[in-house]
Amino acid sequence: MEILDSLVIGAGQAGLSASYHLSRRGIDHVVLDANRAPGGAWRHRWDSLTMADVHGVASLPDAEPPSGSGRANEVVPAYFAAYERSKDLPVVRPVRVDRVESVDGLLVTHAGERTWTSRTLVNATGTWTQPHLPSYPGIADFAGEQWHTQDYPGADHFRGRRTLVVGGGASAVQLLGEIALVTDVLWATRRPPVWRTDEFTPEAGHDAVALVEERVRRGLPPASVVSVTGLMLRPQEEAARRLGVYDRRLPMFTRIEPNGVRWADGRFERVDAIVWATGFRPAITHLAPLHLRGPAGGVQLDRHGTTAVADPRVQLTGYGPSASTIGANRAGRAAARGVATWLAAHPSEVLGAPADEAG
Ligand code: FAD
Repeated sequence: MEILDSLVIGAGQAGLSASYHLSRRGIDHVVLDANRAPGGAWRHRWDSLTMADVHGVASLPDAEPPSGSGRANEVVPAYFAAYERSKDLPVVRPVRVDRVESVDGLLVTHAGERTWTSRTLVNATGTWTQPHLPSYPGIADFAGEQWHTQDYPGADHFRGRRTLVVGGGASAVQLLGEIALVTDVLWATRRPPVWRTDEFTPEAGHDAVALVEERVRRGLPPASVVSVTGLMLRPQEEAARRLGVYDRRLPMFTRIEPNGVRWADGRFERVDAIVWATGFRPAITHLAPLHLRGPAGGVQLDRHGTTAVADPRVQLTGYGPSASTIGANRAGRAAARGVATWLAAHPSEVLGAPADEAG
């Protein structure tokens, strides 16, 4: 049985960064990725999202930033593909990991019939595969269409359909900006959006990340970084703003009916389609057998930001404060350091249980 020093799950920005830094340290590993081809979640972004729409994709370690002005779901995957090739990263795909178990002090990663055994693990599975759909009474009886950001078909699809966009984040703002130009659109959010009118400085970004970091250090479920940075309308959303779309926000309805949504005071709005721009959750269900989640509901990470306190063999990247391309880059480096630290401290435990398990 081959025992790898480390195994990376996921080949998005976080996984590629981790793999690059593990390689530089001479730590043997493989990267397992569920996608058929390079690109991480960027492969699946909607077609109308161009490089002019994204806030900026950070360059991968020791590489130039992505260039090109076309669709984000083409430009970034091409950039990742070239990076994997030029750095000779050991990515194996398509491999969807089902579960990771701890067996006799080693980590055993399962994907269908296949298994990999490693001493440490870097999880870099992002959030895209775990869309969050809130539960509302009547949701299953809605006769119209329901979409999530994850499978958003493009604004044209909604032509002629009265559409309700739900959610208070950047994706909701962006989708409203497109859909408002082709049909009658409504916007509902649980909390009023926090608009940002000042310039988004690096200091403001740092403060936002620090807030999420603090939650993760306390073992709370991470809030998204975007949720603490505030929202800005960009030139692309100007036409929708002039139509008043962003001023006509509704509070959340209390139930969904076959032809629309109803509020507690009895008010009803007819809608033909609902777009849930309600975000994503960390895609970490395959780690459940490792019992990393604490009583507060999140995975507590140490002060360096990637090592799981409950099992320091495991690094979590792209989780909480590192859920941005720049954060994922940094987390990849921190994770490789965390792996190297663990391996150096446990040289003779290849076949034995780690002290915390044995004890
Ligand atoms: P991902 O890119 O999601 O990669 C995870 C990989 O893991 C995928 O390849 C997936 O197939 C694989 N995987 C998942 N589960 C498994 C499994 N069980 N087994 C094997 N493989 C698995 N950030 C910015 O910095 N700038 C921006 O402009 C920006 N724009 C954004 C726009 C949108 C619409 C969204 C939704 C996010 C945006 N972000 C942006 C956030 C940023 O894209 C993410 O934080 C970052 O790309 C996440 O990288 P990642 O490597 O953690 O995850």
